[in-house]
Amino acid sequence: MATILKGAPVVAAMNEHNAALCEQLKAKGVLPTLAVVRVGEREDDLSYERGVMTRCGKVGVKVKQYLLPADAQQEQLLEVIRQINKDDSIHGCLLFRPLPKQFDDTTVRAALAPEKDIDGITDASLAGVFTNTELGYPPCTAQACLEILKYYGVPLSGKRAVVVGRSLVVGKPAAMMLDRENATVTLCNSRTRDLPAVCKEADVVVVAMGRMGAVGADCLRAGQTVVDVGIHVNEEGRLCGDVQFAAAEPVVDAITPVPGGVGTVTTSVLVGHVVAAAAKKAELL
Ligand code: NAP
Repeated sequence: MATILKGAPVVAAMNEHNAALCEQLKAKGVLPTLAVVRVGEREDDLSYERGVMTRCGKVGVKVKQYLLPADAQQEQLLEVIRQINKDDSIHGCLLFRPLPKQFDDTTVRAALAPEKDIDGITDASLAGVFTNTELGYPPCTAQACLEILKYYGVPLSGKRAVVVGRSLVVGKPAAMMLDRENATVTLCNSRTRDLPAVCKEADVVVVAMGRMGAVGADCLRAGQTVVDVGIHVNEEGRLCGDVQFAAAEPVVDAITPVPGGVGTVTTSVLVGHVVAAAAKKAELL
């Protein structure tokens, strides 16, 4: 029986820390504020936005919404971002992507001030992940994987880690962050040969493939910790991950559930970035 690395206790610890920092900021007259920018009404954006607003409310972060219609033009969105960059009362900006096809993603991402990039979408934030400097903020999902591993005290230094998936939003930054913890990291992609054998070499396996149930017991062995980033809805309408949980759980030492794992922690990481951005500005951090 594996230990189930639930997100809830990680979230509780992060909320406590964020709420305490919010109180200190309020004592200095600062109200941490997040700008949420959404173009159109995609159901997954709306659902994430609801989660973010609830979490912000719980720790004392104000949310300002900037909503544009799905047929908005790029200049309108750039103007909103310029306003947010200039507004001293706003500490962080969450911009929902992918954007509709009339937008140039690179131009839009580049318009955001890195110090307000709490979702890790600018090149400066990614540079910060690679150089281990305080530029911007790391992508929240990648950081959520590390928060879970650290909270549960999973040893990383000197250990072998395999990250399956190399997207800029999850796999690559997660690999860099594991490297920072002195793990020896292998980053896999769709052309990796013999994925089961590669995964079995690892002490820690982070799976961010975007393929429902692609990692089964054949890829895993006793002694491993598995972090499942995938989110899918199966034929029965239930949420599930990239890992076959029922097959993996009896084999490995520890595993994150879906739902209730990485996804739960991601929102708290985002809120933590807003509070940290406000604290840096107020010279509390
Ligand atoms: P993505 O951009 O589609 O990237 C998938 C990666 O997996 C690619 O690098 C791809 O390789 C690799 N891959 C695909 N098939 C593979 C195979 N057979 N062997 C090895 N690697 C393979 O996906 P993503 O945005 O990183 O998201 C990954 C998953 O995480 C999705 O299920 C997504 O819904 C979920 N997600 C969860 C959260 C959360 O908060 N929990 C947040 C974001 C995303 P190539 O580069 O060669 O194509």
